[in-house]
Amino acid sequence: MKIKYLGTAAAEGWPGVFCSCKYCKEARKRGGKNIRTRSSTLINDSLMVDFPPDTYCHIINFGIDLSQLRYLVITHSHQDHFYIDDLKLRRSVFAHLDEGSVLEIYGNRAVESIMNEILNNSDILKEYLNIHYVPPFETFEAGDIKVTPLLALHARTEDCYIYIFEDRDGKRMLYGNDTGIFPEETWEYIKGCYFDLVSLDCTMGPGQDGNNHMGLPDNIKVKERLIEMGCADEATRFVLTHFSHNGGLLHDELVELAKPHGFDVAYDGFEVFI
Ligand SMILES: [Zn+2]
Ligand SMILES: [Zn+2]
Ligand SMILES: [Zn+2]
Repeated sequence: MKIKYLGTAAAEGWPGVFCSCKYCKEARKRGGKNIRTRSSTLINDSLMVDFPPDTYCHIINFGIDLSQLRYLVITHSHQDHFYIDDLKLRRSVFAHLDEGSVLEIYGNRAVESIMNEILNNSDILKEYLNIHYVPPFETFEAGDIKVTPLLALHARTEDCYIYIFEDRDGKRMLYGNDTGIFPEETWEYIKGCYFDLVSLDCTMGPGQDGNNHMGLPDNIKVKERLIEMGCADEATRFVLTHFSHNGGLLHDELVELAKPHGFDVAYDGFEVFI
């Protein structure tokens, strides 16, 4: 399984859209891996997780042709993960697509209801976009990838999801943002599941949260529990993503802090193979 992190920031990006804090100033100065756009990930070039406002920037920076994308899996309806205004451009005359080219979108009830409202107001968009409500803990197939939504601990106004992605070779990734420390139903479900890669929320950087997001102390707790349960071992890759300037550590400092605990720090364009 090939996983490419297209964006690795929290809602406001890093530097933040309107921010003049010292960490945003420093990111502007250093550039490179310190410039983080809103979070999404591409799996095997065929399935995308989340559709942030920076998707346009991703297709330009990484030379991606999204006309070929067939599957879009959404974690929750927050604007940094589900930017519908650009999705509305997936139709004639804004996009010239192959006949029958439908983008299958999967998400929770909030995502379903936003999509239904859009589709009910546009017959033409119905030809290009299709929405599927996916209940938690029920596996579905998106092309070659088996996908299982799990409950996250995040906005309390909707059932936010994290996901298990499994490819044809049985390689499995646990994709865990935005979330605090997982709810017990999720821990219960993953008993007996082995993960080749665990990707975790690190919005707080060195700080602690656990209720809506995570920071390194929370990531360490989650990693320890996964190892205790046999869901991960020394061969499992652990990757941190979804960073905020409010965490206060730039890329190199995050790497230094996370490395002794066995975590890779994602950056925009980071690729990992499992
Ligand atoms: Zn987010
Ligand atoms: Zn800032
Ligand atoms: Zn969120």
